[in-house]
Amino acid sequence: MKLMRHGASGDERPGLVDAQGGLRDLSGHVRDIAGLALSRDGLARLRAIDPTSLPLLAPDTRLGPCVGGTGNFIAIGLNYADHAAEIGADIPAEPIVFNKAPSCIVGPNDRVILPKGSAKSDWEVELAIVIGARASYVHANEALNYVAGVCLCNDLSEREFQMERGGTWTKGKGCPTFGPIGPWLVTLDEIPRLDDLGLWLDVNGERMQTGSTRTMIFDVAQIVAYLSHFMMLMPGDIITTGTPPGVGMGMKPPRFLKNGDVITLGIDGLGTQRQEVVAFDDWTAKVAAGEPTH
Ligand code: ZN
Repeated sequence: MKLMRHGASGDERPGLVDAQGGLRDLSGHVRDIAGLALSRDGLARLRAIDPTSLPLLAPDTRLGPCVGGTGNFIAIGLNYADHAAEIGADIPAEPIVFNKAPSCIVGPNDRVILPKGSAKSDWEVELAIVIGARASYVHANEALNYVAGVCLCNDLSEREFQMERGGTWTKGKGCPTFGPIGPWLVTLDEIPRLDDLGLWLDVNGERMQTGSTRTMIFDVAQIVAYLSHFMMLMPGDIITTGTPPGVGMGMKPPRFLKNGDVITLGIDGLGTQRQEVVAFDDWTAKVAAGEPTH
């Protein structure tokens, strides 16, 4: 099942994608793709609905982030062996964990705004986990029971804020619009193997990242189990699981995002995203001129 959320920013409604790729409205059946709707029972109820009975939406409907009610947006750093090698880092003995501010979450095709004063904003295509049930002290062999599904995430990162400003990576990871999520929350029954998914990312049509979840160091079940020993994971929480090689910071010379760039990215079976990049000053000028703010 491919679940999604549609409508204006901050006022999204629940929906799903039918077998023909049509967008269907679920407002008559569930309040949001959030909370109890993400539980095993909640998902079973949605699965029992005949998609053809649901109102069909216009194909150009704005998609919001594919899950609502996200309290924790956690990220795992350096989780691909080939990416760690690319930037000259050792393979971590335990997962590197940092926070992305939940307020950075946006829809999959919304604009990305470069932070004020940013010179080193970068891209990271990632597989993200969406939690479906409270998870505390779970073992890896049962961890997938607490997962509602997975989705595509661009873990946008300001490298100066992240690496040169001291303290934690969080400074460069949670700027507004730095968390495009979706287009779809794909339930695990649609993904035969989480450990064999291809990932890619282009900037202005030029391929930057090519990878596979085959080179992940800590897998989805291990990550959920590991984090559940440090915090209680809640329905709607998102954990983005690290990026494969090809980030701008790792290039020689390094390459970063600039006003007018277009980022496109995808993961096998999870759909694609497209973001136009706008510099902070251009963005404030657009807002002053009355452009919509998503
Ligand atoms: Zn990342």
